[in-house]
Amino acid sequence: MPEIIGIFGGTFDPVHNGHTETISHLMTLIPFKKVIVVPDVRPPHRQEAIGSFEDRLAMTRLAFKNHKKVSVEELGASRSGPSYAISTVKEILKKERNIKIVVIVGSDAFAEIDSWYRWKELLRLVNFVVMKRPGYTTPKNKKSFELINQKNEIDELVQKRGAGKVVEVKVKPLRISSSGIRENLGNGIDINLLVGPKVREYLISNKLYV
Ligand code: ATP
Repeated sequence: MPEIIGIFGGTFDPVHNGHTETISHLMTLIPFKKVIVVPDVRPPHRQEAIGSFEDRLAMTRLAFKNHKKVSVEELGASRSGPSYAISTVKEILKKERNIKIVVIVGSDAFAEIDSWYRWKELLRLVNFVVMKRPGYTTPKNKKSFELINQKNEIDELVQKRGAGKVVEVKVKPLRISSSGIRENLGNGIDINLLVGPKVREYLISNKLYV
């Protein structure tokens, strides 16, 4: 059986417990060889990030420091243009043989799958695990709704070869978002319970998002 490599991309502007704790939970459900966390150099789907790539990368490294089997990588840092998932996947497939790639994504991000660059080709290369995000319901008229409602199971994704499976997973529900954290920081509200201690220290000592 090919080993399973997870890819978790995001802007991580900043990284928070909604990212780290859901990944920890997923690691108990899926036997990943490793999960590669990839901060986007340039976010493909929205406006520019507010934090610099260097800060976002440094905080993401701190957040996942003690997570066994998770590595934070600077994939695509040298590529010009937006950070597309398909380019990251191809970069990993060039280095690793006989693996199965699972792209990990929150339900809000997956809702826009049909606007991702070369998404049909991406679906032929990887499987998706979609983490249910509290407070977000996928609209019924979306392509993503149709894909999620094929009702694939985790066991199938783990045991069967091939790509193209989309599995929705109920992870620990955490109402935490990067935008909420930026807002709190801007308003002088403590973000103690929303990010790890090292990330909090970094945010405060570098006066980020104030
Ligand atoms: P925003 O404030 O714009 O919502 P964010 O918190 O979603 O930002 P991103 O870096 O955009 O942060 O998220 C990276 C990935 O993690 C996305 O696929 C997103 O859906 C997912 N994600 C973020 N927070 C959670 C959460 N609390 N539960 C599940 N998935 C999450």
